[in-house]
Amino acid sequence: MATLQINDLHVDVETEAGPKQILKGVDLTINSGEVHAIMGPNGSGKSTLAYTLAGHPKYTVTGGSVTLDGEDLLAMTVDERARAGLFLSMQYPVEVPGVSVANFLRTARTAIDGQAPKLRTWVKEVNEALTRQELDLDFAERSVNEGFSGGEKKRSEMAQLELLHPKFAILDETDSGLDIDALKVVANTVNRYMTDPEHGLMLITHYTRILRYVKPTQVHVYVDGRVAATGGPELGEELEAEGYEKYVSAAKANA
Ligand code: ADP
Ligand code: MG
Ligand code: MG
Repeated sequence: MATLQINDLHVDVETEAGPKQILKGVDLTINSGEVHAIMGPNGSGKSTLAYTLAGHPKYTVTGGSVTLDGEDLLAMTVDERARAGLFLSMQYPVEVPGVSVANFLRTARTAIDGQAPKLRTWVKEVNEALTRQELDLDFAERSVNEGFSGGEKKRSEMAQLELLHPKFAILDETDSGLDIDALKVVANTVNRYMTDPEHGLMLITHYTRILRYVKPTQVHVYVDGRVAATGGPELGEELEAEGYEKYVSAAKANA
C-alpha cells in the first residue's frame, strides 16, 4: 500500500507585486484504494495545490511537508516525482508543438520505467488506450494538445493515465466543460484505474456532477487555501444541494 501525505502545507505564489500566500495549512492523507474528492469554489487554491505537488516553479512552499511513502516529495525534481508514481492532469494543459502524442507517451513511459517499452506491445497498448477514449488512431501523430478541443485534451490525458499507471493520480477539474458523453468516458477511465488496489486518486473539482459516476471514499470541502470539512459521499450530496456558501462564510469569519 502507498500513502501520499500532505501536512500543514503553506504555499506562496509569485505575483508581480511579490509573493502571495495561497495555501494556508492543507492537511490531507490519501492511501492507495481511496478516491478523495477535493471540492471548492473558484479561487480557493485547488490548482495551486495541484501545481505545488507537480513541482511548478512559480509556487514556493513556505511551510509543511508532503511525503510519498515516507519520501520527501518536495525535495524531488519533477521527473523524480513522476518516477515515484505521481501523475497530474492539469486544468489548463500546455501545448507542445512538434512533439507527437505517441512520442510524448513513449518518452514519459520510458522515464518512469527506466527503460523503453517494447515497441510491438507498446503500439498495441497505445492503440487500445486511444480506442477506449474514443479517439482515432491517427490522433497519436498530432502534436500534444495543439488545437485539441477541450474534450480531446481530457481524453488524451485519460489515455496517459492508463498508459503510465501511476500510484497516485491528481486530476484537476478534468470534468470541467465536458459534455455528458465525454464525462462518462473520463469517469469510466477513472473507475477502471481504481480497480487496481495499488492506485489512489485526488479528484479536484468545482462541480458535484462527476460524483454521480465516480464514488469518492472521502469528500473534502476546500476553502481559502485549506480543507474546511471532510466527510463521505453524503457531503458531496450536501454540496450539490446547498453549494459552498456555508463554508465560505465560516472561513471568512475565521480569517
Ligand atoms: P482554484 O483552482 O481553486 O480556482 P487557484 O489555485 O487557481 O484556485 O487560485 C487561488 C488563488 O491564487 C486565486 O485567488 C488566484 O487569483 C491566485 N493566484 C494564482 N496565481 C496567481 C498569480 N500568478 N498572480 C496572482 N494571483 C494568483
Ligand atoms: Mg483551478
Ligand atoms: Mg500502477
